[in-house]
Amino acid sequence: MIEAGKLTEEFGCLVFNDKVMKQRLPKDIYKAVHKTIERGTHLELDVANCVAATMKEWAIENGATHFTHWFQPMTGLTAEKHDSFISPMDDGTIIMEFSGKELVKGEPDASSFPSGGLRATFEARGYTAWDPSSPAFIKDGSLYIPTAFCSYTGEALDKKTPLLRSMESLSKEAVKMLHLLGYSDVNRVNTTIGSEQEYFLIDKDFYKMRKDLLFTGRTLIGAPATKGQEMEDHYFGVIKPKVSAYMHDLDEELWKLGIPAKTKHNEVAPSQHELAPVFETANIAVDHNQLTMEVMKKVADKHNYACLLHEKPFEGINGSGKHNNWSVCTDTGMNLLDPGKNPGENLPFLVFLMAVIAAVDNYAPILRLSVASAGNDHRLGGNEAPPAIISIFVGDELASVLKGVEEGAAYKSAGKVQMAMGATVLPHFTKDNTDRNRTSPFAFTGNKFEFRMPGSSVSVANANIVLNTAVAEEISKIYEKVQGLEKEELREKTMEVLRQMLSEHKRVLFNGNGYTDEWVEEAAKRGLPNLRSLPDAMPYWISDESIDLFTRHGIFTKEEIYSRYEILLENYSKSIHIESLTMQEMVRKDLTEGIVAYEKDLSKELMQKKSLLGDGGGAMETALLKALDESSEDMCAALSKLYEDTGKAEGMTDALKTAEFYQSTVLADMDELRTHADKAEALIPDKYLSYPTYGQMLFSLR
Ligand code: ADP
Ligand code: MG
Repeated sequence: MIEAGKLTEEFGCLVFNDKVMKQRLPKDIYKAVHKTIERGTHLELDVANCVAATMKEWAIENGATHFTHWFQPMTGLTAEKHDSFISPMDDGTIIMEFSGKELVKGEPDASSFPSGGLRATFEARGYTAWDPSSPAFIKDGSLYIPTAFCSYTGEALDKKTPLLRSMESLSKEAVKMLHLLGYSDVNRVNTTIGSEQEYFLIDKDFYKMRKDLLFTGRTLIGAPATKGQEMEDHYFGVIKPKVSAYMHDLDEELWKLGIPAKTKHNEVAPSQHELAPVFETANIAVDHNQLTMEVMKKVADKHNYACLLHEKPFEGINGSGKHNNWSVCTDTGMNLLDPGKNPGENLPFLVFLMAVIAAVDNYAPILRLSVASAGNDHRLGGNEAPPAIISIFVGDELASVLKGVEEGAAYKSAGKVQMAMGATVLPHFTKDNTDRNRTSPFAFTGNKFEFRMPGSSVSVANANIVLNTAVAEEISKIYEKVQGLEKEELREKTMEVLRQMLSEHKRVLFNGNGYTDEWVEEAAKRGLPNLRSLPDAMPYWISDESIDLFTRHGIFTKEEIYSRYEILLENYSKSIHIESLTMQEMVRKDLTEGIVAYEKDLSKELMQKKSLLGDGGGAMETALLKALDESSEDMCAALSKLYEDTGKAEGMTDALKTAEFYQSTVLADMDELRTHADKAEALIPDKYLSYPTYGQMLFSLR
């Protein structure tokens, strides 16, 4: 346990961070590394050798015996292969070695990772390359080196490479624009991300008893408990003592890894919680979110919990998301999405704001796709998370600013409004200039945008790759229209361009309640796409527009785009396939066993009553037996249909058609089966079931 007084020292104690580098590296080497980190310049081998030796020394002092190139293949998970530092000598002893070459480049066997057709299976070679912009760290006795992962022929096989490319692209376009606007001291623009992570905790023993949770991460059957989340008594309620101990332990583990965990609280659903870190540079924030998810699970295990990160672990109960707070900040410290005192006059702010609005409107389908997964599809549009329609909430103040832009009139801020609480003992504070809107998928929240669609289990890399690139594109379009102009002319022309953009894209702005049916209708009228599932959105990924955007900005090659297309579809179909098989097995074996055992006891009871009381006895048992029999008959029919359709899906070859079939038919079959299974389960006493019920799982945390 970290003592409160020692926290500032202990924070990041397992990270090879800037402070450690400054202390341990020779000055010129430290400078060279910094140049690489800040400007993305090439790193010479002698520098790498020196850094490697220092890293090794530091890692061994901190208990590491191994090193690993840590990377993020296209599955959205992380991968690692560990090598020890040992190098045997002739005399039977060993020395600990780690060279610059080993630091800079690794060669994992790439054949076990999906490439989506980028590489034939016999071409197993893949490379990992050190990413000096994300600090190395120690975990479980190994030195972890964040790396990018690519094929022998240089195509990206991971999520980090395109993310870094998109950050570069946004920076390049933004710097050009800012120079034109007179901010010539800006050299780089950084994307910043803070990703709030939602999760469920349940008793580990319960988790182990459910095949659906073990194999698919979500419950596939399960009658609702008599109490759900309707009282909303969990949200911001008192955190239970054991959960609190877990959260504390989790914070400490994250802090040691240099992850700035900041906020923790209960969420809306019973047993659901959230953790929010302080924002960081996009690349590091994405790495840290991956680590956070891993540490959450590990610490949960220690506390006898299972941490569920699936987007929809429980039917009828809110699922989990990951809010992606996103902004852009210059190396001179200017947050480009900060409206400042006078937003109507703040040209950089207006340019970036408009670029975001246009980007989100123009590339809504790709943005939607960036958060699509079999899991997240259950959550989006379920009146608990934003709908699958992408719109932007800007709030009242910004709406007035935009109105000013549209009408060419200067906007005057009302200034900060003092809150009057009616009791003089209470401190006075000022009101924020945007209210909160929880139903919008993309909300302006003061000095950043909050993209609320990402699912809880997946990497936020994709969402940010799309966002960065689309915004880079819109900024470059603005730049092209105003380049070469100066001063008043520049200002006037820029405002005119923004005005035009606004009239073209204001259809994407929506400040109302996104959960209503009226909005779905209204959005359709406005021509906004409503892509309900991954297969619906998938074709947009390989559309001319998408290929043009990504190739022009150097984010993906056409081949890389197609490879991701294949992998996403394959992953989607595979997930539902596993779900179908698991569900069939649970119904056929586990639930049926419970039904039969209960029916047996009921029949015995009924016979006894009848022999005692005559034909009139046993009304209750008869009714229960009848109801159970009816449900099992329907269940049996639905099970056969699911079995047959899953067989059909197995025989399909076209990736998109297969995914569509899983979505339209297999998932519908599963819904149908679930209806009957849950009806039967609701009739059976808990003790007849070999797995825990919703009530037990969701309301047992202490
Ligand atoms: P809320 O619940 O209102 O969304 P939280 O405090 O839980 O607020 O989360 C806000 C998140 O936004 C935090 O992770 C915070 O660090 C992040 N954030 C704040 N400023 C920025 C910024 N400029 N860029 C990116 N993220 C930011
Ligand atoms: Mg939030």
